[in-house]
Amino acid sequence: MNLYEYQAKELFRKYGIPIPSGKHVDSDSDLVWDRYPVVVKAQVLTGGRGKAGGIKFASDGKELQEKGKEILAMSIKGLKVRSLLLEEKLDISKEYYLSVTLDRSSKRPIIIASTSGGVEIEDVPDSKIVKYWIDPTLGYSSFVGREVSFKLGLSPEESKQVQDILAKTFVLYEGYDCELVEINPLVVLKDGRILAGDAKIVIDSDSLFRHRDLTENPAERTELEELAYKRGYALVELGGDIGVIANGAGLTMATLDGLTLKGLKPKNFLDLGGSDDVEKVVGAFQILKEAIIRGILINIFGGVTHCDTVANGIAEAKKRVGIDVPIVVRLSGVNEDLGRKILKENGIDAYSDMMDAIREVVEVVK
Ligand code: GDP
Ligand code: MG
Repeated sequence: MNLYEYQAKELFRKYGIPIPSGKHVDSDSDLVWDRYPVVVKAQVLTGGRGKAGGIKFASDGKELQEKGKEILAMSIKGLKVRSLLLEEKLDISKEYYLSVTLDRSSKRPIIIASTSGGVEIEDVPDSKIVKYWIDPTLGYSSFVGREVSFKLGLSPEESKQVQDILAKTFVLYEGYDCELVEINPLVVLKDGRILAGDAKIVIDSDSLFRHRDLTENPAERTELEELAYKRGYALVELGGDIGVIANGAGLTMATLDGLTLKGLKPKNFLDLGGSDDVEKVVGAFQILKEAIIRGILINIFGGVTHCDTVANGIAEAKKRVGIDVPIVVRLSGVNEDLGRKILKENGIDAYSDMMDAIREVVEVVK
């Protein structure tokens, strides 16, 4: 489960990790603050709020009202802003990065730190990142903090504070069964104090029974996800422009990887699941019709879902839904020949190899 920044900062407070003073508000009438300037931060479960205009500064009450209302009316990456965090504006001199997460390949918690913070860690060159793996049988010790700080090249004053924050972050990571605790930016103020400017926590959902103080956050859905959810489809919006319909989560993921490998950006994850229903296929097209896309790739490995059913669904969709972007199909498995024949009658040549189909998508959307 993802926590909102204000919830994550509440846990930071509990564990003694320094945070700016702040207040969580969810309506226009609560847009009041006592010490200006103030920062108004959209509370949505996605990063990059700053770039998207979801973080604004206000220097008096009137401006706070304006900016607050503006952000409360926004959607960021398709997610509606439902509440705000008001915080004292910080006098930032430097932005660092600090996180603890699970490294699945080494089966150990890993500390990731950098003095190049404030940007996504994926965009920071490896040479600027310090990594430290924690042996779970030994746990955290103070020498870990010293070594991380030393490798970051911190001054003694900074080192002391970062070691303290890191130790507490690790206790929080273990205490709440976290998959990730991320502080980005870890802010160095002009007066030398260091505190958490932003907070991201992901908690292992299977551990929630151990954390009765947390209530499960209702899922946030984009408009397209909400539409699909209401109609009973498993859809995740991804932000690209190639529509995807596949069956089985694994094959759907492989399809997304394949498209990405060939330089295309998938719009969505949509798994038809184990159904053998023409209408389910038609319904998937009806959802994608609402999306802005350049083409649709259908990737089916027939099992429970028969290839001829999917082919009939595609033919029906062509008649009834009125899709105006190119459609590329890959069919393999149960009743493949029959499916292929049905598609041919409807002017579509189906591929049997996934990568061939993906190469065709590259061609048709050029
Ligand atoms: P994100 O964009 O969703 O990751 O939101 P952050 O909370 O990380 O804020 C993004 C950026 O806004 C930070 O890296 C800062 O550069 C800037 N920012 C946020 N709060 C403050 C503040 O109190 N003072 C100043 N000067 N900048 C801030
Ligand atoms: Mg951030």
